[in-house]
Amino acid sequence: MEFEFDLIVVGAGSGGLAAAKRAASYGAKVAIIEVNQIGGTCVIRGCVPKKLMVYAAKSKKNMDSSEGYGLKNEGINFKSNILLKNVREEVSRLSNLHRNSLKKLNVTVFEGLGRFATQNELEIICPKTKKIKNKISSKKILISVGGKPKKLNIPGIDLAWTSDDIFELEKFPKSILIVGGGYIACEFASIFRNLGTEVIQLIRGQHLLNGFDEDLSLCLEESPTFTEINIISNTQLRSIKRVNGNLESTLDSGDKLLTNNILIATGREPNLLHLNLDFLNLKMDGQYLDVDEVNQTSNANIFAVGDIINKPNLTPVAIEQGRVFSDNFFNSQKRKVNYENIPKAVFTIPEISTVGLSEKKAIEIYSEKNIKIFKCKFTPMSNTFKENKSKCMLKIVVHKLTDKVLGCHMFGETSSEIIQMVSISLNAGITKKDFDITMALHPTISEEFVTMYG
Ligand code: NDP
Repeated sequence: MEFEFDLIVVGAGSGGLAAAKRAASYGAKVAIIEVNQIGGTCVIRGCVPKKLMVYAAKSKKNMDSSEGYGLKNEGINFKSNILLKNVREEVSRLSNLHRNSLKKLNVTVFEGLGRFATQNELEIICPKTKKIKNKISSKKILISVGGKPKKLNIPGIDLAWTSDDIFELEKFPKSILIVGGGYIACEFASIFRNLGTEVIQLIRGQHLLNGFDEDLSLCLEESPTFTEINIISNTQLRSIKRVNGNLESTLDSGDKLLTNNILIATGREPNLLHLNLDFLNLKMDGQYLDVDEVNQTSNANIFAVGDIINKPNLTPVAIEQGRVFSDNFFNSQKRKVNYENIPKAVFTIPEISTVGLSEKKAIEIYSEKNIKIFKCKFTPMSNTFKENKSKCMLKIVVHKLTDKVLGCHMFGETSSEIIQMVSISLNAGITKKDFDITMALHPTISEEFVTMYG
């Protein structure tokens, strides 16, 4: 059978774009199908617009607390409509940049929903009319449709927002209930609170950011931002109803809360529904598509990358998976994605960042007697003349016998920038002694990483 394309990519998010561009750069004839703006979750409804909002929140927090530096605050007037409009314009600009680079590489863009007709053919469906606009065929197909917010199955859930809705707002609410204690919940709680919204955060467990090193969760909960947030723990949302233009939430405890709006941030799930995958009988890994180490599904023509497979759902991971896929299948390389020591950050104010094993995980793997912890907590110099001083915390998890650094964790300003560099040394197998013999750079926060002695 003759195919029109060498590769069809379904979904123009981080993973799909990376794969399409890389394959096209090797001379492959590539098509990409996308129903929304080019860019996917990261560019359109995730990392990029969120980080721009974080910068707004940080600026406001700095202005609010810098009188000690001689900067008299005469009252700052935050206009959320201006921020939201500027964010949307920037997102469109970035989306257009991606579209132009696809054009330069001769990648054909099809607008609509991709739906499998056969294992080598996809129909492109108009989302409004549901009519088939086109049918295209290819030797290889890469699924990179990403994830979507998970919704709770409770009465009134459609009244609540997900993170997708935040980026469509015209202005911020005066008060909000945020459900969840993970990345999205904490980042938006921090953005909203620092920009003046009253925030209540509802978590089903005891602490924020389950799975992160416990010291990081505690630092976040003690921080000035989160002490201004009403965190309600060990309970769940049972129902939502509209009351006089506001939303009334009923909790498991029977307690009721009244806020302008509700944000549900209880995780994400693969967005596979429209693809018509059933007849292909692809092997699944729970809710995810099962793939091998070269991202091949149980059908040899079909591959998958990004948030639809059971790997860390992070932009750089999806990009690397996409590039490695195209390097292997369109340039005969034999590459594998390195999933070791992936640095992670939660962009609260201050931010959290981490690489390697948490103290708890290291103890689980190596037992307590084999683990040594180095930790320091202090007020950073930048907060000297500020009220409501937030602390920062640095922590190193070390294997006692080998001296190998197993994990580094940090809470504090610019910690994501610092941990990105630390992750290189962990990948290179660094020991605590290597940290100790490295000269400090003074005065910085990160110098504490090389001056903590046991
Ligand atoms: P997370 O998995 O980070 O957090 C989900 C939260 O929802 C947890 O607190 C979880 O509680 C809670 N939860 C889950 N189910 C329920 C339920 N039925 N009722 C009440 N609470 C519930 O998901 P997010 O949606 O925040 O983010 C999704 C993914 O997106 C992240 O895992 C990450 O991969 C990515 N992301 C990365 C960012 C970054 O790199 N900075 C930013 C945003 C997203 P519990 O802890 O008890 O399970």
